[in-house]
Amino acid sequence: MNLRYYLPTRVIAGKGCIVANAPLLAKLGGRALVMTGKASAKKNGSERDVIAALESQGIAYSLFDGVEPNPDVANCRAAAALARMFKADFIVGVGGGSPLDAAKAAALLARNDLSDAEVFRNDYRNAALPVVAVPTTAGTGSEVTQYAILTNDSIESKSSISWEGCFPVLAFLDSAYTATLSHRTAVNTALDALSHAVEGYLAVKSDGWSRALAYEAMRAFGKTLPRLADGFYGGDLRAELLLAANMAGAVIAQTATTIVHAMGYSLTYFKNIDHGRANGLLLAPYLDFVVAANPEGVREVLAAVGCRDLEAFDDLLGDLLGERETISPDEIRRFTAIALKTKHVGNTARSPEESDIKSLYAKGLRPL
Ligand code: NAP
Ligand code: FE
Repeated sequence: MNLRYYLPTRVIAGKGCIVANAPLLAKLGGRALVMTGKASAKKNGSERDVIAALESQGIAYSLFDGVEPNPDVANCRAAAALARMFKADFIVGVGGGSPLDAAKAAALLARNDLSDAEVFRNDYRNAALPVVAVPTTAGTGSEVTQYAILTNDSIESKSSISWEGCFPVLAFLDSAYTATLSHRTAVNTALDALSHAVEGYLAVKSDGWSRALAYEAMRAFGKTLPRLADGFYGGDLRAELLLAANMAGAVIAQTATTIVHAMGYSLTYFKNIDHGRANGLLLAPYLDFVVAANPEGVREVLAAVGCRDLEAFDDLLGDLLGERETISPDEIRRFTAIALKTKHVGNTARSPEESDIKSLYAKGLRPL
């Protein structure tokens, strides 16, 4: 048996959980940097609750509310500079995957002087500042992963920091915060989480432990996604989605992602398609592609999400995605060349050739 897993984040879920568990923050120090995106944390109650929890413990804080969607290293450096100036003992990341990943990168940069080339080396001298994660999308699962995924203009794509020192020490899941998500962002972020569970289930690096978690996450998506597609977005549904996304994050922390994510990065970088939607567009063609290498695995995926066959899975995703974006022959050529260079190829159950990746793009989008 070849098994290895590591999951060091304390996860606390429930209504009002941040304020109720504020003493856990005091154990991390007396000075905190709070990092958020530009607007959403002020509207959904998460920033208010984090500040109330910090104040209840007499913890001084400074606010960096300038995290961009799909942040780059420069954006994280600005936050790291504030963390240093403020002498923060820890960082609280509040928001979707973008602020959570930016918090991890800033926590690393606050303690390490790194050139842009060194940022993605995944080998650092000093421990990062501890990170507390408060997700406000039910999507990335970043609150339980060691990854910080940043826009990297030098390769015209995204690059990952993947380092055990980037696991958040603490994560608070309160589905009250996801109530303000637009239907489109709720769908797109759920598709990201579904991709994590499905890709993780079939990944070369999967094992019995990660598959058990992925299966349960997929079962939850099988129940929730049809309701989401029908326009439901009540409190119970939101809580189930947040938990399923969290489980799917714990899956990819062990298995990493596959060709779907590698291909999706170009759709985000060049075509500005949201991260989760980019994966969602490619997910059904990907299952159809890997079925030849792992028919039993794909059957199990379909059973978990409650789809009788690949066509039913494609229909479910079609309902969630609506009209698909177009893609030109030149885009397919360029994006394929980028995806082929990634390590995700080797983690995909059936190793894709250039022609396979081109065909996945053509099936997932509308070729011009
Ligand atoms: P996001 O980029 O964090 O946020 C997308 C949009 O949703 C932003 O405009 C944000 O507004 C808004 N938003 C967030 N929470 C909201 C709420 N509760 N109500 C209303 N609007 C809200 O989206 P995401 O999909 O969660 O994260 C994507 C990023 O995560 C990508 O960079 C992706 O590569 C990365 N990712 C990381 C991992 C990992 O393991 N680390 C895994 C998968 C993906 P504001 O900007 O105003 O906050
Ligand atoms: Fe993702």
